[in-house]
Amino acid sequence: MRWHTTNYKHHDHETGVPVNRGWWLDDLPRLILACRLFGHRPVVDGYGPHKRGLDARRWVVCDRCGVRPDPHGNLDPDEWAIGEPYTEPIWKDGPSARFVTSFRKAMPQVPHHVPSPPGAWPARPTGSISGQMILGRHHGLLHIGLDIGAAGDEDTLAFRISINPLFWFSVQTEGFGQWLQRRLIPTGYETRQIGVLLDGWQLHWKLWARQGHWSRDQPKWWEGSVNLDLAERLFGPKRYAYTNAAGPELAWVHLPEGDSYQVQLRLKRERFGRPKSRRPAMSWSVEWESDRPIPVRHRHDGKSGGITSAAVAVADDAVTNNLWVTAACAQISATVAEQRTRYDYRPKAAEEGDNR
Ligand SMILES: [Zn+2]
Repeated sequence: MRWHTTNYKHHDHETGVPVNRGWWLDDLPRLILACRLFGHRPVVDGYGPHKRGLDARRWVVCDRCGVRPDPHGNLDPDEWAIGEPYTEPIWKDGPSARFVTSFRKAMPQVPHHVPSPPGAWPARPTGSISGQMILGRHHGLLHIGLDIGAAGDEDTLAFRISINPLFWFSVQTEGFGQWLQRRLIPTGYETRQIGVLLDGWQLHWKLWARQGHWSRDQPKWWEGSVNLDLAERLFGPKRYAYTNAAGPELAWVHLPEGDSYQVQLRLKRERFGRPKSRRPAMSWSVEWESDRPIPVRHRHDGKSGGITSAAVAVADDAVTNNLWVTAACAQISATVAEQRTRYDYRPKAAEEGDNR
């Protein structure tokens, strides 16, 4: 049995958590009691053929603990069905894996598919358990999950629990839990997931979902999510809606640098809130469109990058006093000037006309 840990703290770029450690317990003895008392229960395992003429393999495994004889044998797929008890004797003093490998190397003309019986059960089968522990803030809100690996997976079982901002804990086994695995996923290559994840108001669940694989035809209960935000469920999500109020009007926008652009303006009533809300937030905005791009930054090709349309907010007063056109132009000028400062843009006198 070997124990070691690794500090991931310095690898963690996302968060400065106080503890982030991985740990491993290797070479743990793994024999379930029934196998110790009564011996293993050999059955046929393998894969294929998925279609006629495709590759198929059969070998021997203990139905209870998942341990394979060494070598695990190479049975004739036409004679042995997956799951069928293996009735032939297990070679107590059968060829070792090393013998079979060196025999194959020495006799390359013998094809790999030549059936060979399984060897002896390993005297001390081992497995390992490993995991990770994080203390402190991480992503998500609450997560509890169990993965059951397919027979070919490196991880047999994987469990994790996380409560933000307290801790994140995961443990996975290699070898351990094969009894459960053989009951739940006897064939196939798909890891199955069970768990719940709470992220904001969204509750996601997995009840036998296939890892990394979703299809429209799968049963609805396998995986899904539900929104726990009651207000949103009853009154709908908050969104913006616009109605035309005035315009189009033509006007000129004068920029601090001296250049001017003709724009077309449309006054819009802006409503923000849930569709059924009685008191949505109401405001005014003006959509503007310029006859040519207003340059705000230098591009890599030497020309100027510009904007031709956007929207600006105007105050209620400006609309009531019928000054929205003036207010919008001043606002557009201020927005463009702000962008020019951000991109460190200074228009050249000669550039006038370049953007046409
Ligand atoms: Zn066994």
